[in-house]
Amino acid sequence: NLQGKSAVITGSTSGIGLAIAKALAAQGCDIMLNGLGDAGEIEQIRSGLEKESGRKVLYNGANMMKPDEIAGLVKAAETGLGKVDILVSNAGIQHVSPVEDFPIDKWDAIIAINMTATFHLVRAAVPGMKARKSGRIINMASAHSLVASPFKSAYVSAKHGLLGFTKTIALELATFGITANCISPGYVWTPLVEKQIPDTMKARGMTKEQVMNDVLLAAQPTKQFVQTEEIAAMALYLCSDMAKNITGANMVVDGGWTAA
Ligand code: NAD
Repeated sequence: NLQGKSAVITGSTSGIGLAIAKALAAQGCDIMLNGLGDAGEIEQIRSGLEKESGRKVLYNGANMMKPDEIAGLVKAAETGLGKVDILVSNAGIQHVSPVEDFPIDKWDAIIAINMTATFHLVRAAVPGMKARKSGRIINMASAHSLVASPFKSAYVSAKHGLLGFTKTIALELATFGITANCISPGYVWTPLVEKQIPDTMKARGMTKEQVMNDVLLAAQPTKQFVQTEEIAAMALYLCSDMAKNITGANMVVDGGWTAA
């Protein structure tokens, strides 16, 4: 039960972040949404979640590439919701390219959004958490925090870095009632992944099933996508009192990928 708690969840206008926002709100948590997208669609998500949960649901459009906007997001949550008990750093992007062709701006954006933004978020949220001697920090990493895939140099670097950062702050915050952990999903069924399938079918002359098993799920022993609700359930568990001794951990939800 998260009655009386409030959470900032970055990248919560879609996919995993939105599923986490729904799960936390369903447990009584007030929510600060964040993410890019069409203003009308985002307002529909915000008001829909507010209606179905009966909780206070706010939105702030901070760009995770901009440190001042990130600090502003945390400030807006502290003002609008009273405090930040739970910080979920989830916004992320991907780009796939051989390293010698990797666009420099894509490298910079992935490092900024998938890794450095978490530093700025934590830096802004920790003073309030320390003062209350309680907090939950959940950083969305990936199986790519532990293993690599070719052509994903920026993403793999950022997610490995994010895990190192999370372990470090877990040590710093351990005596303040604050936990910091990563969740590391394998392939999750999100709009982003779903949208890639028709194009890949065309490009490779494959059936939908071949694309899913031989391309996307090649590394995932279960040959099944993880569902966003499963990641949200892990986030909910990490927010619970029973998880107070889980810190600096990497909670892997990857259908066996990193066991291989
Ligand atoms: P998604 O594309 O559905 O959602 C990404 C969210 O991040 C969106 O809300 C988007 O608006 C937001 N975002 C992107 N750039 C932003 C920016 N500059 N500023 C603010 N918000 C920004 O993707 P998803 O699959 O839900 O991914 C969420 C997280 O989970 C990412 O960190 C991703 O790396 C991680 N992850 C996803 C998978 C997967 O298979 N889908 C696997 C492992 C890890």
